[in-house]
Amino acid sequence: MGRHIGPVCRLCRREGIKLFLKGTRCDSPKCAVERRDGPPGQQQYRRGKPSEYSIRLREKQKVKRYYGVFERQFRRYYDMASRRPGNTGDVLMALLERRLDNVITLLGFAVSRPSARQLVRHGHILVNGRKTDIPSYLVKPGDIIKVKEREESQNLVTAALNMEGLPPVPDWLDRAGSEAGEARVNRMPSIQDVSLPVTPQLIVELLSR
Ligand code: SF4
Repeated sequence: MGRHIGPVCRLCRREGIKLFLKGTRCDSPKCAVERRDGPPGQQQYRRGKPSEYSIRLREKQKVKRYYGVFERQFRRYYDMASRRPGNTGDVLMALLERRLDNVITLLGFAVSRPSARQLVRHGHILVNGRKTDIPSYLVKPGDIIKVKEREESQNLVTAALNMEGLPPVPDWLDRAGSEAGEARVNRMPSIQDVSLPVTPQLIVELLSR
């Protein structure tokens, strides 16, 4: 009998990749991708080679789910990226990587992107001393990201930071400051800093038509 998996994990199973949406569970053997013992659900009945269109579409869906952005917002990022110098796909990924909710996750202040989003929305985060409750805020070099000094905010972040198996903070960010719950953006991220295995060119090919 198939084991029950929740809707969030089902997204990972469908994409065949870990999207890290459930915090520490994602790094445990309970992860639905790790314990995959066969193709999930309907995929067993899929036949034939996927079309080029479906490969590109899946790549886009994977990125949207990983960063938790909707289609309209994703298109906006794509438009921004296509107007900037450089490879559009790489610029697109670097833009997404700069989202405040992503940064909060990378810093270990929250255990997953969905909980980072909640932390930001509930006003627990300051950027350059100002409350910033917009998860899509794009950080830039020199920004100081700080957790509010309120006890509730500090407790939430300390609990996340105390989780075992915290991944290392990428070097475009700096959490090394003496104060827990404070970090600095060292530089702009590039495609090399994106840990999600992705081929951005496939997304560009899909959206540039
Ligand atoms: Fe579920 Fe996380 Fe594993 Fe995805 S990576 S299947 S969200 S436990």
